Amino acid sequence: MRIAIISDIHSNLEGLEKAAELIRKTVVDEIVCLGDIVGYGANPNECLALVRELTPHILLGNHDEAAIYPEKTEHFNPLARIASEWTGNTLTEANKDFIQGLPFTIERHGATFVHSSPYEPAEWHYILSPADAQYNFQSFQTPICFIGHTHVPDVFCDDIWSRDVVRSKRFVVNVGSVGQPRDNNWQLSFGVFDTDKWTYKNIRSEYDVKSASEKIRKAGLPRGLADRILVGR
Ligand code: ZN
Repeated sequence: MRIAIISDIHSNLEGLEKAAELIRKTVVDEIVCLGDIVGYGANPNECLALVRELTPHILLGNHDEAAIYPEKTEHFNPLARIASEWTGNTLTEANKDFIQGLPFTIERHGATFVHSSPYEPAEWHYILSPADAQYNFQSFQTPICFIGHTHVPDVFCDDIWSRDVVRSKRFVVNVGSVGQPRDNNWQLSFGVFDTDKWTYKNIRSEYDVKSASEKIRKAGLPRGLADRILVGR
């Protein structure tokens, strides 16, 4: 069983379309989306439609939640808050209803999937370091847990040192972001996990980032959001 794991699309349709094309070519059995489908970018409704076409396995992210509950933006920076308000005003009622029904976490094929962290998933904690990851190993039962949220692809092992996913050890794997990478690499990021071979691959690819950036400006969203996806920060 090969599973493609996508996360943090953030209304970037160009990024999502390219990821979908690559996933089709990679030939996977299943796709899981770890949430933050909306927020920051210019195509929230279009991204929700495409994600739903790709997979029924979709989790809630903090930006999805904030788009339907504006009071949840209290910890957002000013640009994120403006984008969240814009997203809330742009989403269709049907899409808001859909977001409302999304779960925080799922378990499939011996793996755990969550947007932010297996420890208190509704609190949107960040796993930024091996130390953060260590704290989380007690909060899920499977050998491996896939996360997003920081927009930085990474692999954390319970022995601290291992960077390659292997059987017999436990891992927290961040698949990175399709729509707004933040590791100084503007190329989209997602993961493919093979449950039979127990291998994991992080995929990076260029996409039409200029068009996605231009759309953010034309939508009247903050200029900083249009600029950051061009550099991956
Ligand atoms: Zn995000």
